[in-house]
Amino acid sequence: MKFKYVGCNLCGQNNFKILQADGPFKVVKCKNCGLIYTNPQPEETRLLEHYRQDPHALWLKKQPAAVKKSWERRFKKVQAKRLKKVQSFKRAGALLDVGCGYGFFLSEAKFNGWNVYGVEISEGAVSYAKNVFGIDAFKGELRDAHFPDNSFDVVTFWHLLEHSIDPLGNLIEAKRILKPDGILVVAVPNVRNYIYRVAYMFFKLKAPKIFSQGLRKIHLYHFSVNTLKEIIRKAGFTPIKFDIDKERSALPERVLDTFAWILYKILRINLGIALEVYARKS
Ligand SMILES: [Zn+2]
Repeated sequence: MKFKYVGCNLCGQNNFKILQADGPFKVVKCKNCGLIYTNPQPEETRLLEHYRQDPHALWLKKQPAAVKKSWERRFKKVQAKRLKKVQSFKRAGALLDVGCGYGFFLSEAKFNGWNVYGVEISEGAVSYAKNVFGIDAFKGELRDAHFPDNSFDVVTFWHLLEHSIDPLGNLIEAKRILKPDGILVVAVPNVRNYIYRVAYMFFKLKAPKIFSQGLRKIHLYHFSVNTLKEIIRKAGFTPIKFDIDKERSALPERVLDTFAWILYKILRINLGIALEVYARKS
């Protein structure tokens, strides 16, 4: 795999310290703005190849039937909960899901009366979304879909930005295609997932890595509440609600996130495994 060094996606500077090294990957922290990212990063063509092989589908295929069934059931429930949260801000309209995968979230939205569109780089996932759910999905990057200005009432990024080469560019494009009163929804893993980290250290007697080579999906960015807030502001949005994205599929993670959620409600410190933010155009 070929790699290249990149500047900070949030502030543009090239001044970082190394937090962790794992094979060719290093996780670094920008000394200027605090953004944590993987540097060097695999080249874009290599990333596309990685996702073309659809690592998630390969993983799921290898699971025993019972695991597969329970994972799928749980995953369907997650989509319904996500839509319910989105609908607390907007009831209907045009909804775009960037990184829509197989279209499970969009199929839930479509069933509830939304006009749905998807963007996805994995060809297999795009055909699945089209053939199984009848979803209009564009294969490629968001910038290449060339949607007209002010097209959507809601744009969602469910765990996409951490995989994207250019999270800021994606958010700026989302601002252009959102209607003036549109809602942006972003969920990403939380780099300050301290409750998970403590539990991991307790059971495994070692600290978890921020990022390791073996992951099915390559995480290029590792956001905290602060850096997520900053990148959203820089793209021209005002956050209106922060939350914990606690729709995990594994039970131990859900238990840990329940602790994190209680702590968040009392102390307003977000230590969940993943972050979720809702924002409007500034
Ligand atoms: Zn920076």
